[in-house]
Amino acid sequence: ESFGEIELSEGLKENIRRCKYAKPTPIQKHAIPIAVAGRDLMACAQTGSGKTAAFCFPIISGILKNENWVKVAGSGRRGGTRVAYPSALILAPTRELSCQIYEEARKFGYNTGVKIVVVYGGAPIVQQFRNLEKGVDLLVATPGRLVDMIERAKVSLSMIRYLAIDEADQMLDMGFEPQIRKIVQQNGMPPAGKRQTMLFSATFPDEIQRLASDFLSDYIFLTV
Ligand code: AMP
Repeated sequence: ESFGEIELSEGLKENIRRCKYAKPTPIQKHAIPIAVAGRDLMACAQTGSGKTAAFCFPIISGILKNENWVKVAGSGRRGGTRVAYPSALILAPTRELSCQIYEEARKFGYNTGVKIVVVYGGAPIVQQFRNLEKGVDLLVATPGRLVDMIERAKVSLSMIRYLAIDEADQMLDMGFEPQIRKIVQQNGMPPAGKRQTMLFSATFPDEIQRLASDFLSDYIFLTV
């Protein structure tokens, strides 16, 4: 029972060893193989369960295993402004959580070439534009700031292959449902089935069940 047995890219495995994660937590043990196999996932997991790694590992490994990723990654020009085309998106409700996920993802992606950027509200947007312009494979974002960036044509979601939504119940409590639906169901995001989606929530009330049936395709339900 170790990460060695799970099919993850070598660069990532080296970083997992560097992080001294000896063995997977229960959510990691169950979620990672399902996600690596390409399935959509609805997971009920609490903070502290190790859920960040549970969705970051399959995403980073997937980016690294996609032969075209270097070509696909980064940014292109459209109408004179640079547009970022991330291949993976992680949504989180707060600045604190998005920064925490970013810091962890950076450790997991260390020295692999995977470009990771975080954008969140309540901070100057210009520096975040600059970070995006250097290219981004994995974007970590809060919903409001991401919608803003999409509307300003700084980010395009048309190349997204992996989508993870963390603390979905907290997002709804904070009133982010319109923004999340805008991000996932409009604006050129590939539809469910053409991307891989992982939805994480501490609780599973009716609203989250609705979100799951709207955002996920033929998904596996996990609770730990
Ligand atoms: P999370 O639930 O994702 O916020 O993770 C909680 C804490 O557990 C974080 O500090 C992680 O770095 C740590 N952690 C996650 N997975 C493992 C693991 N397999 N072994 C040891 N620590 C871990």
